[in-house]
Order: sequence, then C-alpha cells, then structure tokens
Amino acid sequence: MSSGVVNGGVSFWYASDGFPEGRGPLEGDASADVVIVGGGYTGLWTAYYLKKAAPFLRIVVLEQKFCGYGASGRNGGWLYNGIAGRDRYAKLRGREAAVRLQRAMNDTVDEVIRVAAAEGIDADLHKGGVLEVARTPAQLARLRAFHAAETAFGETDRELYGAEETARRIRVADAVGSAWTPHGARVHPVKLVKGLAAAVEALGVVVHESTPVTEIRPKHAVTPYGTVRAPYVLRCTEGFTASLRGQRRTWLPMNSSMVVTEPLTDEQWASVGWEGRETLGDMAHAYMYAQRTADGRIALGGRGVPYRFGSRTDNDGRTRAETVAALREVLAGFFPQLAGVRIEHAWSGVLGVPRDWCATVTLDRSTGLGWAGGYVGSGVATANLAGRTLRDLVQQDSGQGGRTELTELPWVGHRVRRWEPEPLRWLGVHGMYATYRAADRRETVTHRAESSRLARWADRVAGRH
Ligand SMILES: Cc1cc2nc3c(=O)[nH]c(=O)nc-3n(C[C@H](O)[C@H](O)[C@H](O)COP(=O)(O)OP(=O)(O)OC[C@H]3O[C@@H](n4cnc5c(N)ncnc54)[C@H](O)[C@@H]3O)c2cc1C
Repeated sequence: MSSGVVNGGVSFWYASDGFPEGRGPLEGDASADVVIVGGGYTGLWTAYYLKKAAPFLRIVVLEQKFCGYGASGRNGGWLYNGIAGRDRYAKLRGREAAVRLQRAMNDTVDEVIRVAAAEGIDADLHKGGVLEVARTPAQLARLRAFHAAETAFGETDRELYGAEETARRIRVADAVGSAWTPHGARVHPVKLVKGLAAAVEALGVVVHESTPVTEIRPKHAVTPYGTVRAPYVLRCTEGFTASLRGQRRTWLPMNSSMVVTEPLTDEQWASVGWEGRETLGDMAHAYMYAQRTADGRIALGGRGVPYRFGSRTDNDGRTRAETVAALREVLAGFFPQLAGVRIEHAWSGVLGVPRDWCATVTLDRSTGLGWAGGYVGSGVATANLAGRTLRDLVQQDSGQGGRTELTELPWVGHRVRRWEPEPLRWLGVHGMYATYRAADRRETVTHRAESSRLARWADRVAGRH
C-alpha cells in the first residue's frame, strides 16, 4: 500500500467527525422493560421509536464498544430503498405483499430525512437519488432488466438513460447507460449514528457502551458486568451476531471495504460532473458503490476479502493492501481523469448475510426474544423500517397496540436455515466471489450482452436466487 493512506481506525467517517465521548458501561445487574443488544442504526432506531411511542418504558441499550462501531459507522452512506430478499418474498408471500414492502422502503428514505430534521441531526443528507451505471453490454442488459423489475414493483418514477444522458450527469469511463431512482439520499453515516444516539439518550433511554453481551436468552442479556433482565430482549448485532453463544451459523459476517480520496479541486469536479450528488453504483457482479461527500471527496466501496474463516470480524476496520489496490483500480477505471488523486483512508466493516440473503425482523412471542437484520449490503434505510416494525411488534405483544401495516409486511417473522459449518462456509463464499470477479472480467473481454453463466452458477450455489 502506498504510504500516507490511513488504514482502519474504524472508518474515515470517524476520522472526519471525531470519536464520541464514551458512555459508561453497565455496573451490575439491572432490570428494564426492553433491552436492546447493539448500538447501531437498528438498535438505536428501535429504541427511538419505542420510547417515542411509550415514554414510560424503561429501555436499555447495551453496546460492546461504542454506538456506531459496526457497519453503521463505516458504510457508504447510501440511504436508499433497496431491501435484501424482496424478490424471494414475492415468491414466498405473493407479489402484492412484496410491493407493499417496496413501498414501505421508498417511504423509509423520507422518514429518515424527516426524523433527522426533526431531531436537529445534521448528517450531510442530500436526496439526489441513486444512479446505477452500466459499463459493458452485459451490464447494460442487466441494468435494463433491473429497471423493468423495479418499475414492476411500483417504482414508476425511475428513469433509464443512454450513454449521452449519463455523461451529462457524470463522466464515468465506458458508461453505456444508467438508471436513476429518486428514492435515495447521500448521508454521512457517523453524523447520523451519533445524532441518533444523542436523540435516544435525550428521550431517556439508558445507553451503556463498552458492554459486550456474551449470551442472550429469554428475558436475559448477560454481560461480564452483570445481567439485564427484561421481558423483551432484542438482538440488533448484524455482522457481529456470530460471536454470540449459539449464533455462530445464523448470519455470515461478510466484509465490505472502502477508500476515500483527498478533496478534489474544482477543476477535477468539473471533469467528473456529478452535480446531482446521486449515490453511484454499477451493475458488475462484484459491484462498487460510491458517494460524493459533502466535503468534496469520493468515497468508494466494494468487496475485498469477502469473508474470514470461522466468521471472524476485522480489527477496527484494518484492510489488506490488495483490497486497497483493487479499490484504487476501480476508482481509476471509473474516472481515468482523476489519475494521481490521492487515497487518504481505507477501512472495512461487516454486514450480516442470512443463508437465503433475505433481511428479517422478528419477535418470538413465546420467549420475548426479537431480532432484526440480515440486510446484506442495504441496511442504512432498512434498519429504520426494522426499528419501527420492532416497536409495533413489542407494542402488539404487550397489549399496547394491534396489528399494523408494518407488522403485516412479508419480511416479518421469516425464518431460514443456518449456514454450513466450516470449511464449507469459507470455501463457498470465496468460491462465489472469485467466480463473480471472473464473470466480470469475461463480460468485459467478450463484450457480449448476455450475463456470464459463471455468475448465474455462483448465484445458485450461494442461494441468492
Ligand atoms: C463498508 C460497508 C459499506 C456499507 N454501505 C452501505 C450503504 O451504502 N448503504 C446501505 O444501505 N448499507 C450499507 N452497508 C450496510 C449497513 O451499514 C448495515 O446494514 C447497517 O449499518 C446495519 O446496522 P445495524 O445496527 O443492524 O448493525 P451494526 O451497525 O453493525 O451495529 C451492530 C452493533 O452491535 C454491536 N454489537 C455486536 N455484538 C455485540 C454484543 N455481543 N454485545 C453488545 N454489542 C454488540 C456492535 O458493536 C455494533 O455497534 C454497508 C456496510 C459496510 C460494512
């Protein structure tokens, strides 16, 4: 790796906005009405909406490090309407149910923006929509199919652009077309999570940091410093779930890595365009995602080492040199006009992947145990929908509310089998990503419109389709 690149340190977002002052750990046994494990977006949104709905509830959040230590403080800042598993939910529960889920996700983008404004959270939000570009004929075919599918799920306000219209928005090398949806906004992930944690605390929720939960069982969250007893225990630990007793094979911790450039000059921005500040993605199998930050940089992410043997997570976001080099190559491929622009910071994080790649939110009424997650790569908005849904499920179960639109969405209560034991898990995921990369290379070389068969094979093996 070239010198001068800050590596890890949780994320650039913390480097740019500062680490929070630590909140105190749990000091001995305690009781509550609801205990939430994990202080990321899911845990904090759940605490926020529950306390708003029922201010008398005693709610405790237990966070192993500090709020936003996980993906919520490291992500690409795409606040958008994608939800993992929608197509499968359409097959399992019917198209109408999946359309309701999609509409709820569209509304969720606006809901996050609304609450941020109401709570005075300045998170660099900019609702410029999501722009996805195609750079090969095979990607273009997938883009058109994707656009048609999204339209059929009720997104009638999206647009499809040819090469010229795309270039008017953004100068991406080799772009042959793009698709745009208004249902997306750029966000500074850490400003959002810090603001949310402060809002939750101001409402009277008790947040303990530096408090790892070692075991969750009905009515108990066990930590080295004491046990919190509560009728409801909600697990909001996403990519870290495997470290909890009994959860090793529940959700696979998948890595995603990012780099950020130095701030670009006005001339460099003029050569790129991107005045709409849309979040930017592509249609490669091993896809990239990017944003134009409020302070004029490009933050860009993609898959590095996808998965570590035995479901291990990274060390404060440290990222391998090969991954940084690969992301630098993606940046250079997209924007050759930016040759020589410095990468300032690289980091990684984990997201949770269920065996069938479907996000879920559940409250088991017989035990009072609940959980939400398995968002794969799209949890920034989904975590908000999950938080509101967990609120409704707890209220329904405790007799303070009935069924709501949210409790009837098809992702509620979904169960899936666990991942295979090692070494199959490691071999499967690494094989899948090696295959995706090979498929992308082949599509670039052959210039055929048909998606590589390799990628379709990898999808099937991974259980994605
Ligand atoms: C690099 C990267 C880029 C991404 N980009 C995007 C994007 O642009 N758009 C998008 O929609 N999604 C993106 N995602 C995914 C998104 O960030 C996550 O889905 C979302 O933040 C999940 O929030 P969460 O609260 O469920 O999990 P997390 O943010 O991971 O929070 C879980 C929290 O639980 C704590 N915890 C874990 N175990 C324990 C325990 N035993 N005891 C106590 N506390 C515990 C952790 O420390 C952590 O703070 C990205 C993810 C990564 C890693």
